[in-house]
Amino acid sequence: MLEIKNLVKTYATKLEKKGEVVSSLILDRISLRAAEGEFVSIIGPSGCGKSTLFNLISGLEVPEEGQILLHGKEIMGERGHVSYMLQKDLLLPWRTVLDNCILGMELQGFTRKDCRSKAQALLEEFGLAAYSNSYPYALSGGMRQRVAFLRTMLANKEILLLDEPFGSLDAYTKSEMHEWLMDVWNKYRSTVLFITHDVEEALLLSDRIYVLSSQPARVQLSLDVDLPRPRSREMLVSQEFNQLKKQIFQVLFSDKTTSLNI
Ligand code: ADP
Ligand code: MG
Repeated sequence: MLEIKNLVKTYATKLEKKGEVVSSLILDRISLRAAEGEFVSIIGPSGCGKSTLFNLISGLEVPEEGQILLHGKEIMGERGHVSYMLQKDLLLPWRTVLDNCILGMELQGFTRKDCRSKAQALLEEFGLAAYSNSYPYALSGGMRQRVAFLRTMLANKEILLLDEPFGSLDAYTKSEMHEWLMDVWNKYRSTVLFITHDVEEALLLSDRIYVLSSQPARVQLSLDVDLPRPRSREMLVSQEFNQLKKQIFQVLFSDKTTSLNI
């Protein structure tokens, strides 16, 4: 469904002291794919170019080389094909949970009434109804991420891009979020691209994992995760799980410049 071929992206940066402009290669021939309904994770050291990759897929930026194909059609530089949940939740503090959820839909021109009834139904389905009239400041970190995720889903695009959505949550909240997310994903089977630097998280959630090197990012490993679903935290101690984990760690640690905190 989504196919990315040989993407190359460089950024021009100005050296502060000398004022010289240097160009640095960020993505070096990145290729990956996601079939319909697949959950695909991207792991890589901090600063390697993961968010840049999402900016290209969402059409916010264009690469110098390569192709981004959706159902075989080139979508490079085109917006509107994916819903993108940024690293920060970016909920609007002056809008209630319900009205934050409908932002993406409103931008597409649906009436506020239609948006609200659809969002309310989803909030109820996924255990957030009690918060629909609350403001973001009153919510915990985990709740805010749930709201941001439902907003992303309500934009109703074929692909969800999630950029480290649980990166700032504590371990316990994170594991609750995994269960919640899997529940939502199981019901809707959206195609998801998920950035994380948490190897266990990637293994618990994904059908396939791409491991990127430090800058310039190259695909170091593409790993199919064929662990049975539903997956639970008990799996963390299983032999199969640890075998896959080992494969990822070997690649990450063979990359000498990796600055991952694991
Ligand atoms: P990651 O999400 O993997 O942590 P990013 O994609 O945010 O990494 O950034 C990759 C590299 O590109 C970093 O070195 C960052 O400083 C640089 N970078 C990101 N955006 C820009 C930009 N707009 N202009 C110049 N450099 C950028
Ligand atoms: Mg990032």
